Amino acid sequence: MKYNLNIQERPRKLRYVVGQDMVTETLRRQMAAGSVGAAYIFEGHFGCGKTTTANILAMYLNCENPQDGEPCCECASCKSIMAGECADVIDINASKETRKDDVVQSIIEASEYQPLGKKKVFIVDECQSLSAGAWGAMLKLLEEPPEYVTIIFCTTNAEKIPAAILSRCQKFHFSAIPEPVITAELLRIAEGHQFGATEDVCRKIAHNANGAMRDAKKILNLLADENDFGEEAVTRILFGEIKTGHRDLALALTRADIDGIGRGVDAIAEAGENDFARALTVTSRLLTDAMELKYNKKAALNYTEQYLTLVQPLTEASLASLAAACDAAFKAKTDVARQNDATMCKVGLICNVKQISEHADVAEVKPVIDDSVKQKLEELIGQLTKRVSALESTVQKLLERPEEPKRPAEPTLREPAREMPSEEEEIVVAVRPISDDGDFEDGRSMAELSEDDGYGMSFDDFFG
Ligand SMILES: [Zn+2]
Repeated sequence: MKYNLNIQERPRKLRYVVGQDMVTETLRRQMAAGSVGAAYIFEGHFGCGKTTTANILAMYLNCENPQDGEPCCECASCKSIMAGECADVIDINASKETRKDDVVQSIIEASEYQPLGKKKVFIVDECQSLSAGAWGAMLKLLEEPPEYVTIIFCTTNAEKIPAAILSRCQKFHFSAIPEPVITAELLRIAEGHQFGATEDVCRKIAHNANGAMRDAKKILNLLADENDFGEEAVTRILFGEIKTGHRDLALALTRADIDGIGRGVDAIAEAGENDFARALTVTSRLLTDAMELKYNKKAALNYTEQYLTLVQPLTEASLASLAAACDAAFKAKTDVARQNDATMCKVGLICNVKQISEHADVAEVKPVIDDSVKQKLEELIGQLTKRVSALESTVQKLLERPEEPKRPAEPTLREPAREMPSEEEEIVVAVRPISDDGDFEDGRSMAELSEDDGYGMSFDDFFG
């Protein structure tokens, strides 16, 4: 990567943090007045300045020449914190630590020693992932913190923080950053680096960053690395994951078109996608973009021409149909989460078709919808049943292998032959009993096993 904008363009003073004026101005005034708390909670939207602000606070608290509530950014202490080399400022990402209790234990131990500079500052990012035990230990520290310690908790989910902790911290809320604010900041960065990014490109990036400055900078970074801010590059980076299969599925959903839904899912699978929860997220996004384009003509400015061509057919559906289709995709996504199975994805969607049909634009589907849904679900369940039968018959074949004359020299077998296995045992049965010398129960070696034993069958034979 040629650029690292999230580091190069990280604000180092409170007044440069964009989109959080209420928070930064309150903090700046507190600092200037010398009123520093022992513990803070910065909560809110991801990628919108929580850890950056925590870092500036750490700099201010250790700065040799603080000015009007801001760090000087020039003294040795400020420089070492900016370089991530200050022993007094300890950054911890709780979600990445496997032993959550140790996070707090290490803070407690470190806080027993005086800082080398003025203050010891602990920044605990993603603190919502700390365990109950860890919070219990933390509470003891917060009850009587050493005067040289400040702890800043950052979280996207403050609801997971125990009330006893919340009541001992000053809480600041960071909101999603408005698009015009992100656009202006991207434009400032682009001009500073002399990137060829126009305001139009910056606005498209801002719209797709979902209120997160960090994400917006990442996208700008990708384009800057390629030094290409043209239509094709912007479309590829902002909308590259969205394919015609997703659009066709979305279209079929708005029409409660059962066969179309099946074809859409197949097209997505054929394009190499096997994470259907993700595919449904992309489909929902298309539907919400189409809704936005319908009620706000100016929204077209947020998208590239290529993407608009893709999404345009969806805008012909009514708002109610788009909303119902989006809702159905979302529900199916919850149902098929962690399922990499096209048939399950179809079942999840078709189960919600009746609800879409209430809003579907194609009037003629309504009277036939109940029968069609029933018929299609029966067909899909038939497919699933066939797979289960194939598995069962394979297991059966393995169990019913003809008895062969036993070799007298091999009396010690681990397990006797069994009756039908229970559900939990099926996997175990596939691993056939093996005698101590590595051969199978019947005396044949692994190399002698034939297709009749089920070993020649591929995954596709079961699931194809
Ligand atoms: Zn300084």
